[in-house]
Amino acid sequence: MALLLGWRKEGGSVMKSFLIKPVLDENYKKISHGKGVFLYDEDGKRYIDGSSGAVTCSIGHGVEEIIEVMNEQAQKISFVYRSHFTNEPAEKLAEELARVLPGSLNFSFFVNSGSEAVETALKVALQYWQEKGQYRKTKIISRWMSYHGITIGSLSLSGHTDRRFRFVPLLDTSPTIHPPYCYRCPYDLTYPDCQLKCAAELEVAIKRIGADHIAAFIAEPVIGAAGGAITPPHGYYQRLKEICGKHNILFIADEVMTGIGRTGKMLASEHWNFVPDIVALGKGLSAGYTPLAAAVVSDHVMEPIVMGSKMIMSGHTYSANPQSTAVGLAVLNYIEKNQLVSESLRKGSILLNELRKLQVKYSIVGEVRGVGMLTGMEFVSDIFKRIPFRKEINLTNFIVMKAKENGLIVYPSSTGIEGDSGDAILIAPPLTITEEELQLLIDLLDKTLYEVEKHLQ
Ligand code: PLP
Repeated sequence: MALLLGWRKEGGSVMKSFLIKPVLDENYKKISHGKGVFLYDEDGKRYIDGSSGAVTCSIGHGVEEIIEVMNEQAQKISFVYRSHFTNEPAEKLAEELARVLPGSLNFSFFVNSGSEAVETALKVALQYWQEKGQYRKTKIISRWMSYHGITIGSLSLSGHTDRRFRFVPLLDTSPTIHPPYCYRCPYDLTYPDCQLKCAAELEVAIKRIGADHIAAFIAEPVIGAAGGAITPPHGYYQRLKEICGKHNILFIADEVMTGIGRTGKMLASEHWNFVPDIVALGKGLSAGYTPLAAAVVSDHVMEPIVMGSKMIMSGHTYSANPQSTAVGLAVLNYIEKNQLVSESLRKGSILLNELRKLQVKYSIVGEVRGVGMLTGMEFVSDIFKRIPFRKEINLTNFIVMKAKENGLIVYPSSTGIEGDSGDAILIAPPLTITEEELQLLIDLLDKTLYEVEKHLQ
């Protein structure tokens, strides 16, 4: 699979895609257009977008209503610097987020990417303690098997070894505790007899580091890119929230992938009845129509900042630009009007059911998991011993490539910690997918897994 590209001028005036991994994927085509759950490449080949890109295009492609709003906003104003003027779409989007999000998550700080949203959340957490005179509370605890972003601060918190290893000397803190990875429990225990030892580990880490030094704990409610939709057992998040409360540590939920209805609730945190102190949103906030993300902060966290220095010491040139926030507002309206949050829960359970049928059919499928329309499949060479495939096989990329050949887009994930192997994919189609299209997705995945298994024999 081609991972990432830039564009290089090669002779004359022709711009050529410059692939970092140029040889692996002959199907790396130019995109032509998209409509609904389908994408079409330059040769007219159709793909079903089974992962909403990078779990982003939650309302599908080419939605007329959104395009109209983009046009209308561009006629009025596309950019204004936030220190000079406020703007109506940003104000309205912040108001709408305060309405639809739980608890007192009433303050939105808009940025352009999930990584920036996490960076902002991190800074707000530190600033909160500074405003309260607790200058030593600077560390953030995070988990292995996590992905919080690609910038140095957010990567510091990420337990995604492949993305970290080159930059370790620049990274500040490291992930400290294990994830709730029941399929291969780090303690070799089974839920519920384990008594949630992986959650209790947070308290051990706090005691080791010292609560006086810790500003916050950060977690993705469902682990996406680094875990293939790892979904925690019941009681896990309540336990973590209790521990954070007991030791005066803020809870940041990284809902960049899970937020805005992806899992069948506006925030995935709502499945486990907890309200984070700060939330990072991205991806589904603009459903991919324009770059937009946000750090959303609870009243009790904002209070000392409002009473103290009165400003959040962060921001980007494009923060809260009217073009992006107008799109965010239109996407949120569209999601509500079409009841896509409840639809995500309903269709997600159909999807999970169908994936479980494939699990029975194919011996390489170790586990199927997820919630709402964020589902994952983990692959193993031995389903009884749960042994991963060797890293050299590069199975995830092979599956993603085969699926693409068959006209299906899925998202590569991984479950390997500290260089270990571990193959997984995310299946997370637009929330707008019809049941018929869902069946097509399953049929194409079925075909792909058949071919992959045959290849491995
Ligand atoms: N947080 C989570 C949970 C993510 O899944 C991602 C991206 O995949 C990010 C943060 C980073 O977002 P971005 O790629 O928009 O910077």
